[in-house]
Amino acid sequence: MTIVHLPAGGVRQAGGCIEPVLLRGRVDHIDGATGELLHRYSTVHEPGGVLPVACKTRRATRCPPCAEVYSADTYQLIRAGLSGGKGVPGSVATHPCVFTTLTAPSFGPVHLSREKDGHLQRCRPRRRVQICSHGRRMSCGERHARDDDRLGEPLCPDCYDYTGSVLFNACAPELWRRFTITLRRTLARQAGLTNKALAAPLRVSFAKVAEYQRRGVVHFHAIIRLDGPTGPDTAPPAWATLGLLTAAIAQAADAVHLDTPAAPGLPARTLCWGREHDTRPITTTGELTDTRVAAYVAKYATKAAECTGTLDRRITPADQLAELPVSEHARRLIAERLRLSKLSGLEDLRLAAWAHMLGFRGHFSTKSRHYSTTFGALRAERAQHQRDRAATGSIWPTPEDDTTLVLAHWRFAGQGQPPITPPPAGAIRSGTPPLGPPEGGQP
Ligand SMILES: [Zn+2]
Ligand SMILES: [Zn+2]
Ligand SMILES: [Zn+2]
Repeated sequence: MTIVHLPAGGVRQAGGCIEPVLLRGRVDHIDGATGELLHRYSTVHEPGGVLPVACKTRRATRCPPCAEVYSADTYQLIRAGLSGGKGVPGSVATHPCVFTTLTAPSFGPVHLSREKDGHLQRCRPRRRVQICSHGRRMSCGERHARDDDRLGEPLCPDCYDYTGSVLFNACAPELWRRFTITLRRTLARQAGLTNKALAAPLRVSFAKVAEYQRRGVVHFHAIIRLDGPTGPDTAPPAWATLGLLTAAIAQAADAVHLDTPAAPGLPARTLCWGREHDTRPITTTGELTDTRVAAYVAKYATKAAECTGTLDRRITPADQLAELPVSEHARRLIAERLRLSKLSGLEDLRLAAWAHMLGFRGHFSTKSRHYSTTFGALRAERAQHQRDRAATGSIWPTPEDDTTLVLAHWRFAGQGQPPITPPPAGAIRSGTPPLGPPEGGQP
């Protein structure tokens, strides 16, 4: 039996992660026929007795190195679905495919940065001055630069529909789900097929990313592609054209709506997408190329609500709302979420738990099963690549045959840098990152 230890400076093991997940435990290789222990790796001899594993967060505010990896994987994954690669045939580039943006409706006028021909435009100019019932001007003649702190702030916070904004974020994932169902139905109707019959010749694949607008509401950017019955490796039927897809998206986006539950003092409301939706074809040579779209989605994949002036962690009962380091607009959004979370009838929206996300609890980037490859496949490919390149081998052996049992026992031992203690004398130095420990904490 061999016992091996990792080198000191375990941070390197976690690929530069600044908030690694610390694991305590061991991995045993056992001969399945005889029960003999062939090899044991244990963390007892590691610095601090723990093995640091990358946190794998997607959030750039928490761990830039891990977010960079996540962003690079997102780029590969999105691009493979547009022009092939990573197991997806290049012929996918000929399938009708668009980039569409579904926005939230208006909840009241906010300060905007607008540009025309490279010149900043006035925010909200009005010929005649309009004063709201709170005595505020409902116009703004300023030209706001893109980094102006007031962007996204309401012209009058007392007129602004904070309730609607909160409910929209909370219901946006369900609104998206209904949109995908309605889109399939619309395509079936246009093709003269029943919903069930549509699945035989056509599959609709999606990849979407959520983006927080400065006003604190989410909107979705989505890649929508038409495939044949088995996904990207089969061509869609000839009638499934780009024009048909574009028209169906517009119809579905206009038709979808959702009624929020009524609560004491809060009547039910109907939520729908904003009127502005934008759908453009993705091509390998045109204005909106596969690489541009992949870079755009990868950029948004590492951002979250904190970019709109809120927090990147959960708000606890111990937090004093008035003292949180957030913008006034974000504070009012959070306060409204906490208020609504106490109303009976709205429990299912879990508004308090997601208050720091301004109520949005969906996944940031999601894709349908047949879009392209998976994050897991990309990670496995990278691990294999590292194994192949490593001259010194891994910290535990690759089982020689399938009769070897690999038993791993891991316990979570905290998060952050491991305590700096020198490795015990006689530790064998090994150069490769650890393989196999469980995935780190995803948000
Ligand atoms: Zn990390
Ligand atoms: Zn303004
Ligand atoms: Zn007002």
